[in-house]
Amino acid sequence: MIPFQSLAQTYGTPLYVYDFDAMKEQFETLKEAFRGRKSILAYAVKANSNLSVIKHFASLGSGADCVSIGEVRRALMAGIPAYKVIFSGVGKRDDEIREAIASDILYINVESEAELGRVEMIAQELNSKARISIRVNPNIDPKTHPYISTGLHDNKFGVEINAAKRMYIRAKNSEHLDPVGIHFHIGSQLTQLEPIYEAAVIVADLMRSLSAIDIDLKFFDIGGGLGVRYNDETTITPYDYAQAILGAIKGLDVTILCEPGRFLTANAGYFLTKVLYEKQNGQKRFVVVDGAMNDLIRPSLYNAYHRIEALDKSGEESLADVVGPVCESGDFLAKEYPLPMLEHNDVLVVHSAGAYGFGMGSNYNTRGRSAEVAYEDGQARLIRSRESFDDLIALEREYL
Ligand SMILES: *Cc1c(COP(=O)(O)O)cnc(C)c1O
Repeated sequence: MIPFQSLAQTYGTPLYVYDFDAMKEQFETLKEAFRGRKSILAYAVKANSNLSVIKHFASLGSGADCVSIGEVRRALMAGIPAYKVIFSGVGKRDDEIREAIASDILYINVESEAELGRVEMIAQELNSKARISIRVNPNIDPKTHPYISTGLHDNKFGVEINAAKRMYIRAKNSEHLDPVGIHFHIGSQLTQLEPIYEAAVIVADLMRSLSAIDIDLKFFDIGGGLGVRYNDETTITPYDYAQAILGAIKGLDVTILCEPGRFLTANAGYFLTKVLYEKQNGQKRFVVVDGAMNDLIRPSLYNAYHRIEALDKSGEESLADVVGPVCESGDFLAKEYPLPMLEHNDVLVVHSAGAYGFGMGSNYNTRGRSAEVAYEDGQARLIRSRESFDDLIALEREYL
């Protein structure tokens, strides 16, 4: 049991608390599912990019999937070996590509023909050979929220099969490109196995047809996306996930690369917030708390559900909207949520907040971002201080 009440008193609220033991358990469960096969789990850093979190995964043998050069720097700084770092994303700048090649990371996931040209040119400038993988868009509906669906031609990600083929041939014939992998990532919070399997079959077939023309790729990169339970979703078990992938790649001698983010951190994270006021507008009950959409935007952005627990409170429950101080009607952590009557300073624990929580935070309304605490082996430690007003204005000029 994590002592939420005392953590809220010690570190103040709003506060993120991460259960490092639970993160480790998730990592090991997924790793175990691929046992007996060559595989690398490359933690998708964007899910929770605190250096201590990345370092924790580094200590478990994780790689890192990064979507900006900032994330690549974080991964290397936190101790992920360069040979396990991947750089993905639809819009990489020249300077980012240059640094990625110079850092000798495992490979760059290329997402367009134009980008392949840039990578080739920059590798040539550096007198180097860039290891690449191509992100294939298999045009599969992942059956998730449209904002986090990425594997349809309507989405901006990846290239279609025929373009991928052309790009591999071009890369194979280039002195400055070394095609080593193939990649797909069809979406996030996936709870159905079928679309993943279908995508894997399509991409594995492409890999076989490339092999027939002497383009042999080593890495079969299945992206991330494994969903978690926020409420009552049925999720895909790591075992079934692994079996589906293994089924799709039958006969291929490849290293499986998996890029889990949410699966590793979501349910290991908690967002603690204190009640400021109860208020009633006509029939409508509001619980006003000190945490807001700038701390945890998932409810506002995706209408996401997060379980909320009122610490040390009991009594009859009635429905309330849990809202923050930000001046937007879209600023809520929950709608029509059953809660007991609450008082000033009662602590609410928002569950499943370890992925896409702090990282999507902002300073909107000149609110400093929350502190972050790691909880491991019965011990808590501060891994990021609360932002102060001085932090918020540090880069501004000409105001004096
Ligand atoms: C976001 C992302 C991931 C991680 O997604 P999760 O749903 O958090 O597992 C993996 N790979 C790529 C390329 C991504 O963009």
